[in-house]
Amino acid sequence: MTAGPTVATDVERRRIRVRGTVQGVGFRPFLYRHAVELGLSGWVGNEDGDVLLEVEGEGGALDTLVRTLRDSPPPLAVVEAVEVAFVPTSGSAGFVIATSTTGGNTDVRVSADVAPCAACLAELADPGDRRFGYPFTNCTDCGPRYTIVREVPYDRPATTMAAFVMCAACQREYDDPADRRFHAQPNACPDCGPQLAWTGPGGPATGPAALAAAAACLSSGGTIALKGIGGYHLACDATDQNAVAQLRRRKQRDDKPFAVMVRDVAEAESLCALEPAVQDALRSPRRPVVLAPRRPDSPLAISVAPGLPELGLMLPSSPLHVLLLEAVARPLVMTSGNRSDEPVVHVDGDARERLSPLVDGLLTHDRPIHIRADDSVLRSAPGGRLQVLRRARGWAPQPVRLPIGVERPVLAVGAQRKSTVALAQGRSLVLSQHLGDLEHWSTFAAFTQAVEHLTRLGRVEPAVVAHDLHPDYRSTAWAQDSGLPLVAVQHHHAHVASCLVEHGRTAPVLGIAFDGLGLGTDGALWGGEFLLADLAGSQRVGHLAGAALPGGDTAVREPWRSALSWLHRHLGPDVAAEHGPALDPRWPAVMSLVRSGRQPETSSAGRLFDAVAALLGVRSQVTYEGQAAVELEALARTVPVQGAPVYPMTADGSVLDPAPLLAAIVADQRRGVPVARIAAGFHVGLAAGAARLAGALASAHGVDTVVLTGGVFQNVLLSDLLAESLQGAGLQVLVHGHLPCNDGAISAGQAAVAAAVLQRSPEDVREPT
Ligand SMILES: [Zn+2]
Ligand SMILES: [Zn+2]
Repeated sequence: MTAGPTVATDVERRRIRVRGTVQGVGFRPFLYRHAVELGLSGWVGNEDGDVLLEVEGEGGALDTLVRTLRDSPPPLAVVEAVEVAFVPTSGSAGFVIATSTTGGNTDVRVSADVAPCAACLAELADPGDRRFGYPFTNCTDCGPRYTIVREVPYDRPATTMAAFVMCAACQREYDDPADRRFHAQPNACPDCGPQLAWTGPGGPATGPAALAAAAACLSSGGTIALKGIGGYHLACDATDQNAVAQLRRRKQRDDKPFAVMVRDVAEAESLCALEPAVQDALRSPRRPVVLAPRRPDSPLAISVAPGLPELGLMLPSSPLHVLLLEAVARPLVMTSGNRSDEPVVHVDGDARERLSPLVDGLLTHDRPIHIRADDSVLRSAPGGRLQVLRRARGWAPQPVRLPIGVERPVLAVGAQRKSTVALAQGRSLVLSQHLGDLEHWSTFAAFTQAVEHLTRLGRVEPAVVAHDLHPDYRSTAWAQDSGLPLVAVQHHHAHVASCLVEHGRTAPVLGIAFDGLGLGTDGALWGGEFLLADLAGSQRVGHLAGAALPGGDTAVREPWRSALSWLHRHLGPDVAAEHGPALDPRWPAVMSLVRSGRQPETSSAGRLFDAVAALLGVRSQVTYEGQAAVELEALARTVPVQGAPVYPMTADGSVLDPAPLLAAIVADQRRGVPVARIAAGFHVGLAAGAARLAGALASAHGVDTVVLTGGVFQNVLLSDLLAESLQGAGLQVLVHGHLPCNDGAISAGQAAVAAAVLQRSPEDVREPT
């Protein structure tokens, strides 16, 4: 950059295009204020997904403006590119904000939803302010975005606020470039904006009376449904054992932990031990649920997170939550408004029909949610590392940069459970919010809506669809019915690719994909894989020696079946028969299934966790995905891992053999070694065995980087032990942070693989049949 002296009298005019997430984030008012401050004239507007401006004035001032918008844009903006062109001066005076222009088929961005900012919270609490206690307060720096946008460009008529006509006072704010609500599309006040409505005890009621009635219901042990930013929540007093137990019964949720909403970080700190990074994550404008170690003396009801050492905490994500928590003055269970695994309810009619029977009262309002976005979930690891487990509200639709560009727009449709879809164009990848398990028809409906929403917001028609190999996934069937050219991506290759995307890498790595079940290229169910992979391709160079999956999907719900099967395969029928009676009375029937040799085979590390958890008496049947592994890890963490036994695992060439590890576990169990020590020893042994095989494979194939991916790596203990061991052997280790290691990022990986295939081997794209 040249920095010569600028001649003060040189007047120039420049046309500047800003690309990235620049709409709906207060970019135009931000530029207006800076331009006026710098004495520049011209205009700024939205064009397609970009912000476009022409500014005229002294060269030095123009340089300053460009530097400012590039280096310190508004807090919610993501600036990806700034293009500057010199144009003839026009002698313009004054600076104006032009109305939106729409146009061609280009890359358009909408911001994610944002929690209330400090200035809005101050107004909310100020009895002298006209928005005192108003639950829909927002400004250019905060408020709903993705969940209320119907169309782009992002302007009020394109949102679910279209029906609300601003009062004179709100309109003045909206029109005044010096106001912090200048062009804040959801701007509203008690006179002109959305209103609360309550049905339930003390109701019906509207406005502040609705809030008071809902708070009273919660304070007296009631359960309510309330409308948040991306959907409805079910809420109750988290310190009231009866209320929480009742909510569990009504929601038909046996064990899966509930998230808890607290007023502030101080209250969170009273429930959980919080490292600084966790406190920052809780305070972040995305407002995710963060899992953190709970304090033993926390006043919460036991049934909030039965048997688990961690709690999911979150801070209010809307002004309504702020007001409600203030009124109740207790931590509240805040769990997704749905029945068991269905997608979160976001439409008012559905809430009345489906949620009302589960609760004592319904707190709703008349600002529609256009598209649902569940709460995002992060897990904290020792040392302040944070891992996104569920990427939804607050993240969607923030783009991720692809390490290579796509030549034609790619839609990737993900897997089956933890479904997400992704849309790639150019170097940009937009990942949908977490949708859920496509087995439910209502999740599949959410899937098709998400495809439509992403393509509409992106103003793009997909030219290629990437999908999983598994023919029974609903996403695969959708892809095959799309009539578009297809790229099929192996499940674990997609996992590795998603981690490469996150780290901006394209060079080959050794990927360790430890997972539940995913279809392999040989037709077997994989999940304990060592893949030599880059974006374009992968080769299975090693794997865990597996066992049969007796009863298929039933075995996933009943880990004791895996215990029997893995013992049978690796230690023989006698050992399996010896443990059978302690596992389940139905063991002889399952034993004959195993013996029949006609059950599907799996190398899944997730099933090995199931087997060990059941063997140790931790969990023989699960009520949510991954429960056995979650509880086994929790148990292992109750003892110091340094003193744990190191169970041996042998690696013969390319196969990681669990037989010696299982034999040692069985022997220690017989000797009466405490199960927590055995659980810790299992983690240590598996990590050591996997690290040794990975080290050998990396050196044999000449790679120096190992990727840890797949749902099993939600297990922080295993992930940290393995990473430490690999780093000790001089290898670079890549783990997930912003993209989930579980199937939630499969669509992102598929899109990246499709990009590489289009570039390097377009003959592998299958034309529609
Ligand atoms: Zn605000
Ligand atoms: Zn108003």
